[in-house]
Parts: sequence; C-alpha cells; structure tokens
Amino acid sequence: MAELYIDGGWVSAQKGARREIRCPADGTLVAAVDEAGAADTEAAIAAARRAFDHGPWPHTTAAERGDLLLRVATLLQRDRADLARMESLDTGKRLAEAEYDIDDVTSVFRYYGELIAGGEQPRTVETGRDDVESRIVHEPVGVCGLITPWNYPLLQVSWKVAPCLGAGNTFVLKPSELTPHTAIHLMRLLEEAGLPAGVGNLVLGAGADAGAPLATDPRVDLVSFTGGLVTGKRIMVAAAETVKKVALELGGKNPLVVFADADPALAVDLVLMAVFLHSGQVCSAGARLLVEESVHDAVVDEVVARAGRIRLGGPFDDDAETGALISEQHLAKVAKYVEDGVAEGAVLRVGGARATEGKLADGWFYPPTVLDGCRTDMRCVQDESFGPVLTVETFRDEEDAVRLANDSIYGLAGGIVTTDTAKAERVAARMRMGTVWINDYHPYLPQAEWGGYKQSGFGRELGLAGLEEYRETKHLWHNTKAEPQGWFD
Ligand code: NAD
Repeated sequence: MAELYIDGGWVSAQKGARREIRCPADGTLVAAVDEAGAADTEAAIAAARRAFDHGPWPHTTAAERGDLLLRVATLLQRDRADLARMESLDTGKRLAEAEYDIDDVTSVFRYYGELIAGGEQPRTVETGRDDVESRIVHEPVGVCGLITPWNYPLLQVSWKVAPCLGAGNTFVLKPSELTPHTAIHLMRLLEEAGLPAGVGNLVLGAGADAGAPLATDPRVDLVSFTGGLVTGKRIMVAAAETVKKVALELGGKNPLVVFADADPALAVDLVLMAVFLHSGQVCSAGARLLVEESVHDAVVDEVVARAGRIRLGGPFDDDAETGALISEQHLAKVAKYVEDGVAEGAVLRVGGARATEGKLADGWFYPPTVLDGCRTDMRCVQDESFGPVLTVETFRDEEDAVRLANDSIYGLAGGIVTTDTAKAERVAARMRMGTVWINDYHPYLPQAEWGGYKQSGFGRELGLAGLEEYRETKHLWHNTKAEPQGWFD
C-alpha cells in the first residue's frame, strides 16, 4: 500500500519508512502507514505549486468549486460508517462520537459548498469619477500548508480543506502522525469527486520531518496550523522568514463560570460535559471550574460523585461513556500534571491514577479527575492538561469571576451558567475568548466563526471569516477614458 497522495497519485515514502498505528483503547495494530520525510513533503509542495501556477483549479468558477465540495459531502455520508470506524480505531474514541464527528465533517463541506456555489458579486467602489471603475475582487492565496492534530482528526482537516479548496487554492495536508486514516480516505473521496491532480496533496509523518517544510518552504504561501502552543510558536517563527500568511488554532484553558443562582442540575450536567467529553482531549474543554463561593460544596460534591461513576471503555463498548487517551506519552503527561497539581496544593477529590481494571489495562485510560481548592496562580490552573482533569476555584462576585476567568494566557472559549440573563450578557461581553456559551457548552456551527484570543492563536476557522483566511483581496482600478495627465512637463 502507498498512502502518500502527491500530484494525483498514491506513492510510498521515499525512504521506505512506515509507522504502526495502534488503537489507544487496547493497543491492537490498526495498520502500518507510510512515514514521510522532508523530501516527500517537498515533492508535494512542488506538485501543489505547479497545480496552482499552471493548472485549471484557481481559474474554475465558484459554482464548479462549490459543486465539488457538495459532491464530497455526499460521498462522506455514503462512507460514514467506514470513516467513523477508522476514526474510532485511530483515536480510541467511542464509535457514537466518531459518527457525530463524520456528520459534522459533512456539514462543513456542505456549508462551504453551498456558500461558494452561491457565487459572489464583486464589490464596486464609488470613485466620484465617470472615467474610472473600481472593483474589489477576491482571489486564492496560493499553496496552503495545512497541519492538524489528533483529537478530532477529520473534523480539523475539514475546517481547513473545505474553505481552502472553495477559495481556489491548492494544498499540502499533514495530519497528525497518530491518526492518519480518515485523511487518507478523504483524499480518495476528493479524487472520486474529480479534484484535478496536484490540487490536494497528503503527506503523513512526524511534525519535525514531514510538517516542518510547510512552514519554511518559500513555495508555500500560507500555513494554517491547529495544535499545541509550543508547536504553534515554532511554526510562526519559521513562517516569518518567508512572510507566509499564518493562522494558528492553539490550546486553551477554558473557564466555566457557575453563579450561585444557576439551576444546580444544569450546572453539574454542564460541568461534567464541558470537561470530560472525549476524556478532556478537546481544545475548548471547560477544564477550569469557577464556582461562586456559596454553592461550591453543593456543586462540587455532586460533580465529584458523578465523575467517579463515569464509565470508561473502548470504541465499540456500548456501555462506555468516554474513551482512552491518545497515547502512553499523553497519559504520562496527564498523570504528571495531576501529581504536580497536588504537590502545589490542589486537593485531589476523585480520579488521579491510571485506570487499569479489567480490559482497561490494555489501553491508555485515565479516569475523570477533580482537583479542588485551586488558585489561579497554580500551574495546574494555568497549563492545559488536555486530559480529563477539572480544576476548581471559587469566586466572590461578578467582578471577581470576570477577573479570574480572564487571568490566563489563553482565550479560546468559556462558559457561564446563570439564570440571570442580564448578568450572563454582561459577563460574556467581558470574557476575552473567541467563543462563550451561556447555559450550554461545546456546541458549534459551521456557519459561526471559531478561534482564539490571546495565545489561543489568531485567524478564524468556519463561517465567513474561515473562508477569508484563504483569500487575497485585490483592488482593480480601471480607467475607461484614459488620457495623458501631464503631471510632468
Ligand atoms: P501538536 O502541536 O503536537 O501537533 C499538531 C500537529 O503539528 C501534528 O500534525 C504534528 O505532527 C505537527 N507538528 C509538530 N511539530 C511540527 C513542526 N515543527 N512543524 C510542523 N508541524 C509540526 O498538537 P497535538 O498534540 O497533535 O494536539 C493537541 C493540541 O492541539 C492541544 O494543545 C489542543 O488544545 C490543540 N487544538 C486546538 C484546537 C483549536 O481549534 N484551537 C483544536 C484541536 C486541538
């Protein structure tokens, strides 16, 4: 098998390297896939450059590109069951969650397909002169390097690939080396839908080898990255050398603010879902509970009791409520984060040690964990664990809640639980985050922009701004009755 897709063909890694993909839930071998090096990525960049500079794709009509995205949406639904299974095996997430993910991926392709197929009139600018026409038009940026993480593998890919193609660009995609299978399948679907050779290219492999050229190579015009803060900074520095456009979707340490007037059942339900969904491996996970002092015991005691009952299991275990962590290294990182939190004074209320009962011992399972009695200046409050770990702090009043919620280098998302609508709106307006949920947590829409404030990154995915990332804006000035102006004698 050859799993790199370059210039319209399936090829093997030049050095012949392969990587074994194992299911995080039980360690079984899913498959071995090609492991690209820098030379493979350079070949893919060359193909994308040729397709952009000499191929038909950037000059297709918006309707043609929109139709292609809609055909892909149909194919994604045709292959939904296979794709969900692949995603579950690669990530260890429950099959039901993977099915949701594939439906969301389809919605993203459908949204951009319809948006782009609808076409767009150029904006004309009033010049005050009858001899000049002035128009604003949009064009593709060029060759895009798309780098994605492992937690929502195909979904993160879709947020980039759909608008990137819709705007008329060509791309090289480098998904996480841990979760390649749905990206491979997507390339098959793009091929089946009729994408011309060289427009979409796929390289698999480690970031430092297969990914790095996407930030450094002068033939790449834009790099769009979703992943961790440290990698994001590295990519931004590397991209500066050739002044690429950069979009960064980084981590978060997202606060969920529970006011004393909140409905207690709703508050507890939202706290659990905000932080423990997908075992906390969600960039927008509500991993920082800020609870008003007077209801701390009532809310936290119930959260702790229910967290302790959450059932862990493999992707096809019908009884499981959440799945494994992605890898042994990640589990070790989460365990160390909890140990360090306890060492700096947090009170461990539940969880806190790898889950090894029965079949769980075969996988990388870590139970829902609650660290109570935290203060904002603790590392465990400031750092992202990217695991099923909730830190708990209390606040006195509205002002205090806003101050604590914003006391973070991150600004991706946050939530508010209250029955006071006016207070909810006041606090939401002051939270320095790209998404704020009121009396809810996690839902998002393809039509609504997603992205971070502060060190959660810049640029937006989804919505209209998610398309703008992939477009240049050109001003066309057309003098229709030109005559010499005689500026110089
Ligand atoms: P990561 O930064 O380790 O890796 C992300 C991707 O970057 C992978 O494909 C990796 O191979 C690649 N990469 C690594 N080093 C590279 C380099 N030097 N040059 C080019 N590419 C390189 O992150 P991860 O562990 O895969 O994902 C978890 C992180 O992603 C978390 O911090 C999470 O918050 C963040 N995330 C953010 C969002 C968002 O929308 N803001 C969404 C999902 C995940």
